[in-house]
Amino acid sequence: MEDCIFCKIIAGEIPSTTVYEDEVVKAFLDITQVTPGHTLVIPKKHVPDLFAYDEELASQVFARIPKIARAIKAANPEVVGLNLVNNNGQAAYQSVFHSHFHLIPRFGAEDGFA
Ligand code: 5GP
Ligand code: ZN
Repeated sequence: MEDCIFCKIIAGEIPSTTVYEDEVVKAFLDITQVTPGHTLVIPKKHVPDLFAYDEELASQVFARIPKIARAIKAANPEVVGLNLVNNNGQAAYQSVFHSHFHLIPRFGAEDGFA
């Protein structure tokens, strides 16, 4: 998709900080960090939102999320929890229409990010 920012990130035309990458997905730091380590997981195939996945792509992408979550936790032992967030459609606050899953690390009630 020519005008898709996330397709450009996959192609290396827009810089990003990679957390994990393989043939199916790329995970990279969100440009606006809700908490430190806030990561987006995207399929390399352009699908606009959750409604557009077929079962095969859904299982490939979802199968990788726990591994990426563990990598985020392993990179920062202070991570004690994590939100998995997925917005679909403008009404649900989706702003980039290349489907993505937010992994938002949590550090506990006393760190200012709870
Ligand atoms: P949404 O609101 O669609 O669920 O989330 C889109 C996310 O993409 C936002 O959290 C936003 O900060 C992030 N984002 C938008 N443009 C870029 C970019 O060029 N690079 C990176 N790394 N993240 C981006
Ligand atoms: Zn795209």
